[in-house]
Amino acid sequence: MGRYIESVCKMCRREGMKLFFKGDRCYTDKCAFERRSYGPGQHGQGRGKATAYAQQLREKQRLKRVYGLMERQFHGYFKKAERLRGITGENLLVLLERRLDNVIYRLGFADSRSDARQLIMHSHLLVNGKKVNIPAYLVKQGEVIEIKEKSRSKARFNEALETVERRGVPQWLELDKAHYKGIIKSLPRREDITIPVQEQFIVELYSR
Ligand code: SF4
Repeated sequence: MGRYIESVCKMCRREGMKLFFKGDRCYTDKCAFERRSYGPGQHGQGRGKATAYAQQLREKQRLKRVYGLMERQFHGYFKKAERLRGITGENLLVLLERRLDNVIYRLGFADSRSDARQLIMHSHLLVNGKKVNIPAYLVKQGEVIEIKEKSRSKARFNEALETVERRGVPQWLELDKAHYKGIIKSLPRREDITIPVQEQFIVELYSR
């Protein structure tokens, strides 16, 4: 899988929002976005008025980066969202939110989605009692996600769980911290996804 090589903090500055790639650091005054909330580079503070296309592109890049996806993968989700019933933009957000790496992050088992991806690929997790090591796995209502018993003593899980209160667990998930378990109470709805993105712009971009 490809990966971004741009400094992750620069991505936050470029997108004009905190994307929380660096775990606990993101909540401290060391956060680069807190220090310099304007775009990176020579023209970061004085870009002109964005065209419609630029705005659509910006929204797409932002969402792609939040979930840590490359273009091909992201476009694959869009195609899938189009085939589903309902509003394409909302379907897209819901599909992304159902990714296992996102769920692990949301439950607080990892500090960031990239950390969550590593944990999944290193087989520390079970879904309904079975090993799943695919970060793109889409969770379903009623599934139980848990950290393998042998892995529970690892410091990184415990450190991440300690900070989960700061972020809060979304309503569609239930965290059983004592048993390193999470339950998918329901599938996420558009209103559960608080990422500041205007998904309609993304639909317009791909419809060009
Ligand atoms: Fe973004 Fe701040 Fe975290 Fe860096 S420290 S990834 S700028 S939120």
